[in-house]
Amino acid sequence: MRVVLIGAPGSGKGTQGVVLAEWLSVPYLSTGDLLRDQAADGTPLGRRVAPYLDQGELVPDDLIFDVVRDRLKALEARGGYVLDGFPRTVSQAEEADESMPGGLADVVVYLSLPDDVARERLRHREEGRTDDADEETIEHRLRVFHSETEPVVDYYRSRGILRSVDGDRPPEEVTAAVLAAIN
Ligand code: ADP
Repeated sequence: MRVVLIGAPGSGKGTQGVVLAEWLSVPYLSTGDLLRDQAADGTPLGRRVAPYLDQGELVPDDLIFDVVRDRLKALEARGGYVLDGFPRTVSQAEEADESMPGGLADVVVYLSLPDDVARERLRHREEGRTDDADEETIEHRLRVFHSETEPVVDYYRSRGILRSVDGDRPPEEVTAAVLAAIN
């Protein structure tokens, strides 16, 4: 099964994605983790993406595709995937749907969360991410989510593969709801 997780920053995509991937016995891919690793390692790609990460801006689509294209094909060959952080724009979704046979996803899970809950979670997140460090960057990521990524939710809703799950609950309850939603 090929699953895409969409949700605001702080909605729990990472937490749920790992559990879901394990449950489905498919690999989990987080573009945010991948880009942060590259930035931390100071690779050529990492040096290009670091300024976007730090400012809470989206990394340009062409760079994202350089990162995910081959990986998606490889993961698909392993029987599916759970994607966290991709696609994040309608143009990413369209291009990915065209390039993958049968489209990018069998099901898209949207973890909904009120902004004030997201803010509270990001402020208290303990991973020490540079993009969680100040209020302005958090606000910017929320704005980018609403303007760029929420339209992806509508895009997949109109394709009939969207499942919405209330993310404003304890993690185990969200997990149960996600599993129910994909079955
Ligand atoms: P969050 O969902 O909390 O914002 P992520 O770890 O998913 O965190 O993403 C962190 C950052 O990585 C984003 O703010 C953005 O700069 C970059 N990023 C991740 N995935 C993408 C993508 N598909 N397109 C553009 N930028 C991305």
